[in-house]
Amino acid sequence: MTLPTTDTRVTYPSGATEAASRILHVEQRGGRHAVLLDTTAFHPVDHAWPDQGADRGVLEVADRSWAVTDCVVGATDGTSLYLGADSPVRKGTEGWAFVVVHLIDGAEGDGPAEGDDAVVRVEAAQRAAVSAGHTGCHLASLALNRALAGRWKKDVAADALGAPNFDALAIDTTVISEFASVDRYRLGRSLRRKGFSLEDLDAGATAAAVNATLAGWTATGAPISIGTDGGGLTDRRRWVCDLPGERAEIPCGGTHLTSLAGVDVTVRLELSEEDGTPVLQMDTRVGVPASA
Ligand SMILES: [Zn+2]
Repeated sequence: MTLPTTDTRVTYPSGATEAASRILHVEQRGGRHAVLLDTTAFHPVDHAWPDQGADRGVLEVADRSWAVTDCVVGATDGTSLYLGADSPVRKGTEGWAFVVVHLIDGAEGDGPAEGDDAVVRVEAAQRAAVSAGHTGCHLASLALNRALAGRWKKDVAADALGAPNFDALAIDTTVISEFASVDRYRLGRSLRRKGFSLEDLDAGATAAAVNATLAGWTATGAPISIGTDGGGLTDRRRWVCDLPGERAEIPCGGTHLTSLAGVDVTVRLELSEEDGTPVLQMDTRVGVPASA
């Protein structure tokens, strides 16, 4: 058994849903085979920031095909393979390789073999739907930051378009799904100490402001791209949206639409309370042109 010493090369950032590859390593994990490839088009879920889930699809070797039932980030020191949250080190730690682990069903001895040539195929329709959800999520957070900008009484870090970065300072969880996302923000004492005022916060009026900003941005049909420093799993990547006169760049390891042309993004906001802490929930919906 040979574990790789370099990160898996990934092609999903450029939008690829298929990759020809070689199987580097296979081992049994709880009734499934954990398969490592030199190159993959599969977006794995990253336990450290699981906003975008794993791609679905198949792994093929010659005339055999296996369903990839889960796909996670793994870490190896060359001796052992750790999956997801079992990894003892952070992604990017020196001396470790970070890999995309494809999990496929199958009895021991009935999986693909190390050294086999393989092809992976991601379910393209699901990927496109999740990419739309992810793009909408970034745009909505920027529009929300802008709508809440006047509520800051102190200077805080700015977002990619210069507004106080409420999203980064208040985010609790983000879940991206097909043509949608849900962001939950905690408006607790620490946020208020940083200078955020909750006074008379009206979820409906704020949502209307967010939606007006989103309509203006999507009407530009701005192109979207992924900037990257390399093709490895841990190489830094960023979402780039070239709005007219203002370029938004956000660190992001996910997948995205390639333009805002014909895209429609709208949010609903709901303010509630959880254990005495105000919570703002933003539900974002994304519509795309029928041909996309
Ligand atoms: Zn992202």
